[in-house]
Amino acid sequence: MTDKLSVNDRTYRQPQAPTVVVCVDGCEPDYLAQAVATGHMPWLKKTLAEGSALVAECVVPSFTNPNNLSIVTGAPPSVHGICGNYLYDTASGTEVMMNDPKWLRAPTLLAALADSGKSVAVVTAKDKLRRLLGHKMKGICFSSEKSDQVTMEENGIDDVLGLVGLPVPSVYSADLSEFVFAAGVKLMEKHRPDVMYLSTTDYVQHKHAPGTDGANSFYTMMDGYLAQLDAMGCVIALTADHGMNAKVAMDGQPDVIYLQDWFDQAIGTGKARVILPITDPYVVHHGALGSFATVYLPEGTDVEATRARLAAQKGMETVLTREQAAERFELPTDRIGDIVAVSERFTVVGTSASRHDLSGLDAPLRSHGGISEQRVPLIVNRKLPGLDLNRRFRNFDAFDLALNYAQ
Ligand code: ZN
Ligand code: ZN
Repeated sequence: MTDKLSVNDRTYRQPQAPTVVVCVDGCEPDYLAQAVATGHMPWLKKTLAEGSALVAECVVPSFTNPNNLSIVTGAPPSVHGICGNYLYDTASGTEVMMNDPKWLRAPTLLAALADSGKSVAVVTAKDKLRRLLGHKMKGICFSSEKSDQVTMEENGIDDVLGLVGLPVPSVYSADLSEFVFAAGVKLMEKHRPDVMYLSTTDYVQHKHAPGTDGANSFYTMMDGYLAQLDAMGCVIALTADHGMNAKVAMDGQPDVIYLQDWFDQAIGTGKARVILPITDPYVVHHGALGSFATVYLPEGTDVEATRARLAAQKGMETVLTREQAAERFELPTDRIGDIVAVSERFTVVGTSASRHDLSGLDAPLRSHGGISEQRVPLIVNRKLPGLDLNRRFRNFDAFDLALNYAQ
């Protein structure tokens, strides 16, 4: 067994203590601030004082898959290839989900750690992420969503429900994330993996603003499980895939720029193809509305003139050409459109008004995707000697901090 590991041009030391990296989906830092200030997170309050509390930047588009894959590869989407939950596959001319590991262009640190002889466990809330995170990884890997369907061959574990002692949670519930933490604690008790990655879902954050009862009770739950992992001697690094913001006008209705409608007006009906990388099968809580879109334009379009026209629209934060977006956000050029459009903090982008079903929204829209959701916590329950804490951090530095500085 070697004591150093090189993955995607970064070097990591092997863990000495069990190491847990937690990705709290949609954890805008203010959730923690509000919960800590009101006494809802006693473990975190102590950890912020005694460990290391940083604010980092996530990957844009600030969506779940690109960021989870960045965290486990230690690299941006230009390296690992996952730039959304959903993409337009130019090769086949179809719009597809990006859940299949065939889209992944880089190895994960999790797989490399397992190959080097470490025991590794991964628990995700939704099953859509499981195959990407567990790609080519020997070890335990399962989702809360399908915790009743695990097999030794596919997941490296059987009888998860017996281990955790909780029923299979609903995919639209806070329980889906609680199951991740509960499973993490039981795995640490029974199997004591060398490295564990826990990734929740942002169902609660889409519905509840920082400081509200719904948010605080979620974070109190999380705090209790993290305290248990800490008490077992784990190094814990906590970060988020992205933040979360209210996306409503003063009347409480979603503030939406319908981009397909805009392009139909601007260059002709059906000429442009608007792709929303937030799209996934579970859209009830956000109506597939986020702050990031990419647009494919027909041959011969004056891309720069079109870009400039859209950039001048109220509510757009920045509109970039493919090359500009690839450079600024470190995205793979072959998987984004001619234009990338990012809307402002309170505004989301959609396709056509007729294509978004907002009937499932039972609370004012909260969503993500933009630059305005880029700030995320990066917290380690240890001091980090030798690290310059004044430099810029990314959420995908989590394993670097946990393995190279916190042990
Ligand atoms: Zn997310
Ligand atoms: Zn979300």
